[in-house]
Amino acid sequence: MPGGLTPISSAREAILAHARPLPSEPVPIGIALGRVLAEDVRAAGDVPRFENSAMDGFAVVAAASSGPLRIVGEARAGAPAQVALRPGEAIRISTGAPLPAGADAVVRIEDTSERDGEVAVRVPVAPGAHVRHPGEDLRAGEVVLRAGVRVGPGELGVAVAAGVGALRCTRRPRVAVLCTGDELVEAGAPLGPGQIHDSNRVMLAALAAQAGAEVVTAARVPDDRAATEAAFADALERADLVIASGGVSVGPHDHVKPALEQLGVQERFWRVALQPGKPTWFGTRDERLVLGLPGNPVSSFVTFALFARPALLALQGAAAPLPARAVARLATPVRRLNREQVLRVTVRQRDDGALLVAPNGPQASHVTRSLTGVDAFAFVPAGEGEAPAGAAVEIEPL
Ligand code: AMP
Ligand code: MG
Repeated sequence: MPGGLTPISSAREAILAHARPLPSEPVPIGIALGRVLAEDVRAAGDVPRFENSAMDGFAVVAAASSGPLRIVGEARAGAPAQVALRPGEAIRISTGAPLPAGADAVVRIEDTSERDGEVAVRVPVAPGAHVRHPGEDLRAGEVVLRAGVRVGPGELGVAVAAGVGALRCTRRPRVAVLCTGDELVEAGAPLGPGQIHDSNRVMLAALAAQAGAEVVTAARVPDDRAATEAAFADALERADLVIASGGVSVGPHDHVKPALEQLGVQERFWRVALQPGKPTWFGTRDERLVLGLPGNPVSSFVTFALFARPALLALQGAAAPLPARAVARLATPVRRLNREQVLRVTVRQRDDGALLVAPNGPQASHVTRSLTGVDAFAFVPAGEGEAPAGAAVEIEPL
């Protein structure tokens, strides 16, 4: 740990070691988007449930389909045929309709011609042609979704097909966002001398919601010891994860650390070997987690993504709380620093397939413009001189 700073990977390990999955609850499927499954989902029955047609056309007996066939009925999706099929006959059928009794194949409508209540088949027909079989997609009892999966639109679709109406998910983590700083003013409000708009309250609440959290409070806290202690005491009662922004350094008006110490929150690490985001603080009180993020919006954004998001995913029992890394090449030279740098980058693919990353504008921690249109973080190791264009760097997609 150079200079007593915790490496990013060790900081993440410390957080994941303390972020245990929350209890689970049944969630109606219609509002389960974004939730994390607490248990495997199994198919309630075979899917498809019944033999059905893969095409619009005619159900036939394959071995007796060469001559003109008399059309004796219709099978539609949701409305099975009323009659059974015999050799010499055909039943008009729609995609998804149950295969009529007696039929063993479907001929596509494009391969037939119809006249006077009869249909002529213009192609050879094999038994089973264009027929979907029970269980071909999912087998009764089969695991279709694993515990730890975050539910997206595709997962919702397959769960419904599997016969499921509610999903057992971990409870959404409750998050309190506390933004410290006497200089902060509500978004859109006029600014007095020395005041700035409070970007982090809105941004951190949005980041938390996007990571699956329920934001129970998002408040501003003045740079005052008693007010800081009161705000954190309340947040610790209500939240699984308390996210503070600012006030975590060592200035005379930084009250977060002493307040948390007074409230019995045990420090797990403070200061990470990282630019931007060095003064990041992490502590725990029983099962409650507290992350103190540096106040600069860029630093807050970066450290949220690096530390708070994995914490929230781990609280939800996600199978993979850390983003998967890939290797890319720098499009431009980057000056190395004495700490690992987390660049906000855009990613594009070179003709040879390699990923190329370019810093998204100036990377100083007060330049909020670098937060827009970010595809990924690129990690430039500490060192001397420049990392040249073409140098390999690890990236984490956002
Ligand atoms: P601090 O971490 O409290 O020392 O703050 C570092 C820098 O970030 C200072 O320039 C603060 O004015 C700024 N800052 C702190 N909190 C916020 C916030 N919520 N929104 C925008 N800027 C902030
Ligand atoms: Mg401050």
